[in-house]
Amino acid sequence: MYYKYVIVGAGLAGLTMAERIANILKERVLLIEKRGHIGGNIYDFYNEDGILIHKYGPHIFHTNDKEVYEYLSTFTKWNDFWHRVLSYVDGNLIPMPITVETINKLYHLNLSCEQVKDFLESKAISIPEIQTSKDVALSKVGEEIYQKFFENYTKKQWGIDPANIDTSVISRIPVRYNRDTRYFADKYQGMPKYGYTKMCESMASHPNIRILLQTDYKEILSDISYDTLIFTGPADEFYQYKFGALAYRSLKLEFETFDKESYQPAPVVNYPNDYDFTRITEYKKLTGQEHKKTTIGKEFPCAKGEPYYPFPTKECREQFALYQKEMEKETNVFFLGRLAEYRYYNMDAVVRSALNLFETKIKKGTK
Ligand code: FAD
Ligand code: UDP
Repeated sequence: MYYKYVIVGAGLAGLTMAERIANILKERVLLIEKRGHIGGNIYDFYNEDGILIHKYGPHIFHTNDKEVYEYLSTFTKWNDFWHRVLSYVDGNLIPMPITVETINKLYHLNLSCEQVKDFLESKAISIPEIQTSKDVALSKVGEEIYQKFFENYTKKQWGIDPANIDTSVISRIPVRYNRDTRYFADKYQGMPKYGYTKMCESMASHPNIRILLQTDYKEILSDISYDTLIFTGPADEFYQYKFGALAYRSLKLEFETFDKESYQPAPVVNYPNDYDFTRITEYKKLTGQEHKKTTIGKEFPCAKGEPYYPFPTKECREQFALYQKEMEKETNVFFLGRLAEYRYYNMDAVVRSALNLFETKIKKGTK
């Protein structure tokens, strides 16, 4: 069997690349996917009660990248959606990220934006060289707020202390001296009107794209000849773990359906200091679906399971760099996406990475 292009993994990275090759280059492409469905971790489906849920955890699309937004908008319409999160702290549900509303609710105050800025600056600890996620939080909000909102959540999520995690992780969460309680401040935000799976099906709908589901690439790659391979699976697996298995953080997701319309007052409630789960998502409040029942998902972080989050430490980055050296030697294999690039990418960054790779290399036929 010959295909000029073979892609491993039908997540957002693999689908974007397949779509470009099929539509722009007008070439045939074979997409090999281990799971029984396309979409990778953004896959959603209707559960037995008819409620749309995200199988691998809650996904909210947000970006400042106009081109990525416009690209995905050719495959889906969007529901307007501004994501909001509450955090259960000191027995109250308090807006997260840290804003003026958070401080006022936490301390039962009624401070102005200016006063909150002064308040947080007075709490912030001066750290000359910010090196870890703990430094990031302490330098913005000080010890007490760090302990209430960040320390235990991060320990639960990653299984290690924030002092051992690089700056990028807690830096994902902004601190705002205003009343904007949205979780993300990006210009473009939304949920695909008919769900992520429908969007992915639309991306994959070109007749030049052939998809093999429930197929591990290792079982069939030697039977296929190809000119170019685009690999979006785990980097360490590709090299038979020759530099050891890369660490990932995983999640055990527990779904529950209740015979009532609403479960909680926000789409996501975080539990930094209580329980073994980090957060509860109520899916209808993300998707806007109307239904007399409601489904929630609890996330229990764990070490083993699906490789969800590349582990954000210096040691892991160094280990990955060994694999990267091998990747650079490949002449007709490209590595793309959260697993292959071992990066804590959001969806928009994955699409951006795929579009860039397509434009700079695949289209030109160069390595
Ligand atoms: P994946 O979706 O992991 O796709 C890789 C594919 O390769 C998978 O389908 C896998 O089955 C397949 N594969 C692996 N090994 C093999 C093999 N041996 N043979 C064949 N196929 C193989 N991003 C946001 O922008 N907003 C969010 O709100 C958000 N929330 C998230 C919540 C959670 C819990 C997680 C884990 C991630 C979240 N993300 C979010 C990130 C988002 O999921 C990723 O950016 C995106 O899905 C990555 O796409 P990908 O194609 O790189 O990887
Ligand atoms: N975080 C935290 N408290 C919270 C929410 C997040 O300490 O209430 C930290 C935690 O370390 C987490 C990181 O910020 O891993 C990034 O949070 P985000 O919501 O972006 O996580 P994701 O949705 O990617 O799991």
